Amino acid sequence: MKQVYNFNAGPAALPLDVMLQIQDELLDLQGTGLSILEISHRSKEYENINGETQQLLKELLNIPSDYEVLFLQGGASTQFAMVPMNFLTGGRKASYLHSGTWSGKAIAEARKIGETAIAESSEADHFKKVPNLNRMKIDPETAYIHLTSNETIAGTQYQNFINTGEVPLFADMSSDILSRPIDVSNFALIYAGAQKNLGPSGVTVVIVKRKILERIPASIPDIMNYRIHANKRSLFHTPPVFAVYIVNLMLKWIRNNGGVKAIEQRNYRKANLIYSTIDKSGGFYNGLAHPESRSMMNVTFSIFNEGIEKHFLQEAEQNGFVGVKGHRDAGHLRVSIYNAVTYEQCQALTDFMLDFQKRFG
Ligand code: PMP
Repeated sequence: MKQVYNFNAGPAALPLDVMLQIQDELLDLQGTGLSILEISHRSKEYENINGETQQLLKELLNIPSDYEVLFLQGGASTQFAMVPMNFLTGGRKASYLHSGTWSGKAIAEARKIGETAIAESSEADHFKKVPNLNRMKIDPETAYIHLTSNETIAGTQYQNFINTGEVPLFADMSSDILSRPIDVSNFALIYAGAQKNLGPSGVTVVIVKRKILERIPASIPDIMNYRIHANKRSLFHTPPVFAVYIVNLMLKWIRNNGGVKAIEQRNYRKANLIYSTIDKSGGFYNGLAHPESRSMMNVTFSIFNEGIEKHFLQEAEQNGFVGVKGHRDAGHLRVSIYNAVTYEQCQALTDFMLDFQKRFG
């Protein structure tokens, strides 16, 4: 097989062990003689996978017992609409923190449903930082506060969160869920597309406090209604069986690798290696995010000269580094180093960066 280093932004790298297990079990799931691709979601086997995957996530993230874990379809983009449909009700106002492209999309959807205010924004800083949470004033009448914990395109990430008291805090954690420990009890609802840190595309994980499900009006169509999905234990309709099965394997891989705390340490070492290579380059490479808001998941950077940057991309591709080009909206360079990317792969990249700088610096 060709040696490649996968720095894709999502769908993204999966651990080799997980892929080998998928391959190994594909034709015969746990001695059933059937493939996971051809069993009923009402079968005992899938019921077990569904329940076990919920349980694994609860254990790994220390999710309190008064929360539900759901596996939904439609990606995080569906959550942008579903969140306000369910909770921007009763004539109340929602409050959003605007940190970049993804929070912007969430805000645009909420505005179609109801009154939506921007509580804090880092737009004036060109989204190089995350908004300042400490400056935020919280109106107790707010329906909910929404933030994007990691902006995948800008390469920024909140290092801390605030306690919003009685006002529920919601978070899009699509690009950093399970990359570090979080205090779930601080959030009333968390959602994340799986295709970065958790598995393949096709399933979105939702972690929601049971108490707030009571607020959902009965008029919300069933398929868009969190309460219906929770009451049916995520089996309201045909779930994305294959994707949930892969999330199950991915969660076991995280557990076998020491859990979320150990994964965080590994992620920190990976990110630190790349950022320090950028910072020590004497201006050859430049980080795009403000150091205090740098993401451990998506490292965005540029090269001092546009022509040389183009050349870097060509050479990176020739050398098997995949997914190094920045998002089309941001340009420049971005490497995504989600949970499955190894330290050794990051080291191969920094070796290449140092060698490239020697030749073009
Ligand atoms: N939120 C964030 C932070 C993302 O990075 C993405 C996808 N890159 C989305 C939302 C949208 O996810 P999906 O494509 O699964 O709808």
